[in-house]
Amino acid sequence: MNLFETVEEMGHEQVLFCHGKDPDIKAIIAIHDTSLGSAMGATRLWPYVNEEAALKDALRLSRGMTYKAACANIPVGGGKAVIIANPENKTDDLLRAYGRFVERLNGRFITGQDVNLTAQDVRTISRETSYVVGVEEKSGGPAPITAQGVFLGIKAAVEFGLQSESIDGLKVAVQGLGNVGKNLCQYLHENGARLFVTDISPEKTEEVKRLFGATVVEPDQIFSLDVDVFSPCALGGILNSETISRLQAPIIAGCANNQLGQEQIHSQMLAEKGILYCPDYVINAGGLINVYNEMIGYNEEKAFKQLYNIYDTLLEIFEIAQTQRTTTNDAAKQLAEQRIMMARHLKNQQMSNLSYTLRQTVATEVLVQP
Ligand code: NAD
Repeated sequence: MNLFETVEEMGHEQVLFCHGKDPDIKAIIAIHDTSLGSAMGATRLWPYVNEEAALKDALRLSRGMTYKAACANIPVGGGKAVIIANPENKTDDLLRAYGRFVERLNGRFITGQDVNLTAQDVRTISRETSYVVGVEEKSGGPAPITAQGVFLGIKAAVEFGLQSESIDGLKVAVQGLGNVGKNLCQYLHENGARLFVTDISPEKTEEVKRLFGATVVEPDQIFSLDVDVFSPCALGGILNSETISRLQAPIIAGCANNQLGQEQIHSQMLAEKGILYCPDYVINAGGLINVYNEMIGYNEEKAFKQLYNIYDTLLEIFEIAQTQRTTTNDAAKQLAEQRIMMARHLKNQQMSNLSYTLRQTVATEVLVQP
């Protein structure tokens, strides 16, 4: 991999290779873009097969965070960190050494919990740095707010795609009844939707059937149901050539990360089939909105208000995709890039105004010198 060429191509501002001997630590912090604010991104601990794989993961995920934050319309940038280690070798010393690297960035990068890190690990990291979120959960966890965001996303898609302002009577298929999926079923049920659900756990399907009168189907059946909305809330990579060919729902709107098997190919396939796809990182931004609000001092009302950014942004994305005859996936990227460019432009303008004011002040001071 040609390092600088790759970084330039992906548009990263800064990539840090953190290394220490005692304790032995190898970590990469990738700061993609801080035009909108400090780079925010969770830390993943993973035994990568090699350093290139770790770097690729950090670069890809940090760029994703930039787009996600821009689409959510919150003032944070995109970052991501990976610690290259086996989970069995995770020690407090290692986590604290990592925390010291984060601290040295002085708030340019703010992190939290991702794969193989627990809330307790984040607390350990926080002994060395205050630039972490999720140390104390003030909001009761991200799942309810993520589910609310998905619900609002479904409303936007139904409004745009089906020209209806109501969810009442619509048939919605939910794949995965975990933390987000179950909460989403509750909101949909309260708004009169008819639920068709699946999960690999029979206890979860039974509970949702009992609580919300849902019809339970086998995991493989969920794709081919004749419903209005398909909501993937379980795994990534579930939208591929085989599943897309079976889909009957005109709308896909769910929280699962990385739903498209291959971004370009499968978003194009969905568009050709006339399916309105809500890009996952836009509709599932409730979790990010939640951590951002925990960072600035949690206020439930304010956080829920910001969730409406998801609804507004999705409507904008649908409009762009329709007018430009492009996929919603490309439209989302375009919108995110526009917002970032605008923030950069404003920053530059503020800087040049500031330097103009400084020049004027200096000139005046020179003039009034006796
Ligand atoms: P979770 O682990 O609580 O729930 C996932 C559910 O999917 C489980 O009930 C599991 O049994 C089920 N499942 C697994 N394989 C399945 C299959 N083949 N068919 C049907 N069901 C299956 O996770 P969650 O927190 O609800 O998150 C769900 C998805 O949303 C994940 O992809 C996650 O990365 C993403 N996401 C979550 C949040 C959040 O706030 N929790 C935020 C953004 C994105």
